[in-house]
Amino acid sequence: MNAVFEPSLLFISDESWLDEEQQDAFLEHLMSHLNTIDKYDLTRIWWTEELQRVLVEMPQMHPWYGSDLRNPIISILHHQFYSRTEDFVEDAFPCKMAPALVSNYSNTTVLEHFLKLIHALVDYEEDFYLCVGLANRLLNGNYSFSCDCHDKTPKHFLLNQGKDWLQYIDVAAQFFPSTIEEFDDKFELGMEIVRLRDFEGKPYLFDFEFTKKIKKSIVKEKKYQIEIFEAVVRKLILTPEEAGKSDLKDEFLKRSKEYRFRVTQRPSSTRIHYDLGDENQLIFLEYYGEGEHDDGL
Ligand SMILES: [Zn+2]
Repeated sequence: MNAVFEPSLLFISDESWLDEEQQDAFLEHLMSHLNTIDKYDLTRIWWTEELQRVLVEMPQMHPWYGSDLRNPIISILHHQFYSRTEDFVEDAFPCKMAPALVSNYSNTTVLEHFLKLIHALVDYEEDFYLCVGLANRLLNGNYSFSCDCHDKTPKHFLLNQGKDWLQYIDVAAQFFPSTIEEFDDKFELGMEIVRLRDFEGKPYLFDFEFTKKIKKSIVKEKKYQIEIFEAVVRKLILTPEEAGKSDLKDEFLKRSKEYRFRVTQRPSSTRIHYDLGDENQLIFLEYYGEGEHDDGL
């Protein structure tokens, strides 16, 4: 499913642009969407010839002036945006949208072209993500689209800010590695999403590494994939005392001289063993799936 960017996410009036605070807020907001989309390779962005023309011609609007590109942040935004756009042909007529959008930009024909793009998506029954600018965030509910020629509108999902993307990611499907070779590329990105989305972005208290052995045992797991992400992240954000008292039941195994925490509770009782390295480092040693016995059980 592709995304559409509502005009106030992409354009800003000259007056607001010259106000440093507003410029910063605008760029930070646009960046939060594009960085997240880029980092996790989430979607492409529907775009039309007409919107492109407005963007570079009649008259140009910030932050798309050639001279804006001297700002390295804007240059990155340009690159992230254009590497994601996918052309769609706008409809001859705009559709209606409620509640009405606030437009904080000078050239309002852009809004009409945006609504013609949406109408084309309605016509093609294309579901889409709707990313909105700061002034058009909705705390409750969603926008609705209507026209006189179609009965049905496609599904659309409202994203008020960059981090809203995280709730649409199927972490297990997209980031659980299926081979050792892809473990390093995928697993830590999946952990990062779980940390930001499900644990309020709490920082990791430890450095960590995964041995080849645990990579091998994790990639075999088909059932408890999201549970593994969650347990590993929880282990890294909790102090040892907190981890001992939590569902992780973090403990030291005297016989094997290794530490262990639970990924899932009984009856599946899946576990991870780890060791402590130099100063503040956790070395994840091995994952024990359902029915696999470890030393201390
Ligand atoms: Zn229609």
